[in-house]
Amino acid sequence: MQQDCIFCKIAANEIPVKAVYEDEDIIAFPDINPAAPVHLLVIPKQHITNILEATPADAAMLGRLMAAIPKIAAIAGLTEDGFRTIINTKDNGGQTVYHLHLHILGGRFMTWPPG
Ligand code: IMP
Repeated sequence: MQQDCIFCKIAANEIPVKAVYEDEDIIAFPDINPAAPVHLLVIPKQHITNILEATPADAAMLGRLMAAIPKIAAIAGLTEDGFRTIINTKDNGGQTVYHLHLHILGGRFMTWPPG
């Protein structure tokens, strides 16, 4: 756990969220400032600053994070119409919280390219 990391505090249950999915490694919860009718964040409980900081030792956990997406999408009712997954990295990627997280956005058509 990293001091002063808001997502570490969520992972440790120090900041309560309405988790839509949780297992040993990850937790998924609604984004506080939703950019779509459904906007979830999926985070590893382990602190990884962003995808650039992931190491080969994290591969299994990252695989489990990706493998959980279909389950989370099903819980959120997104499998029929589809959804978008996004990982923002550092300034140009629009990363504002420096604890790796994956966005799941759905419930409306997503335009491309993103802004
Ligand atoms: P980023 O811009 O990819 O780093 O995404 C960070 C996201 O975290 C933003 O969409 C924020 O709205 C969201 N966020 C920040 N703090 C909280 C919180 O306490 N609960 C839920 N979402 C949060």
